[in-house]
Amino acid sequence: AGRAAGAAAGATEAHANGVSYADTRRFDELPVSRYTLDALREAKFVALTAIQRAALPHALAGRDVLGAAKTGSGKTLAFLVPLLEKLFRLRWGRYDGLGALVISPTRELAVQIFNELRRVGARHDLSAGLLIGGKGVREEQERVNALNILVCTPGRLLQHMDETPGFEAGGLQVLVLDEADRILDMGFAATVNAIVENLPRARQTLLFSATQTRSVADLARLSLRAPEFIAVHAEA
Ligand code: ADP
Ligand code: MG
Repeated sequence: AGRAAGAAAGATEAHANGVSYADTRRFDELPVSRYTLDALREAKFVALTAIQRAALPHALAGRDVLGAAKTGSGKTLAFLVPLLEKLFRLRWGRYDGLGALVISPTRELAVQIFNELRRVGARHDLSAGLLIGGKGVREEQERVNALNILVCTPGRLLQHMDETPGFEAGGLQVLVLDEADRILDMGFAATVNAIVENLPRARQTLLFSATQTRSVADLARLSLRAPEFIAVHAEA
């Protein structure tokens, strides 16, 4: 992990044809809590995929990351593991409020992320919820203020920021923008920019995308600080 974390800032590329800039091959070689490692092992996640190998050392070191890798390459754990570890290291607890936000373009993807979070975060003492619409906003409002981690679609999150009494993001530590290319394709650029403006600047931001586009770069410029650029072009 040391070598990867010490790699020069700027564009770093990891190819899966046996050559990679990171030595780390397995989750248990990373600086990750016992709680997370045990849950990963139970879920049979042992070896890192290429994007995880390239992104996790930086993300676990607290840096902002812009990660691009194709669908199915394991991007979800590349952000869920650092998110959990950040809150764990801060001893984030049930009464500390909102610590992390994950923004996903669609309800279906948000549900998938939430299920993965429940699995890999099962041993942590953190609460998590989905804000994806489909239910009454009132019903969500009753629970939303107490949760530590929220997995959201952009429109619904902004609605809560605007309308839910007591919705408080001032302590946020980690923002994840997943499938950023799809978020933008679906016309959510202004919504996401409005969300980001409501968040504290001193946070870690992890942005993942299947493709690298001009608009993803624009979003990254607005939401990330001195990010590590990581692109994986081959299958893990
Ligand atoms: P992406 O977001 O890049 O499309 P996902 O995070 O959804 O990819 O992962 C794709 C599949 O790979 C999921 O079924 C996930 O559980 C599995 N997966 C992710 N990381 C690993 C790993 N390190 N080892 C084995 N399977 C993994
Ligand atoms: Mg994904």
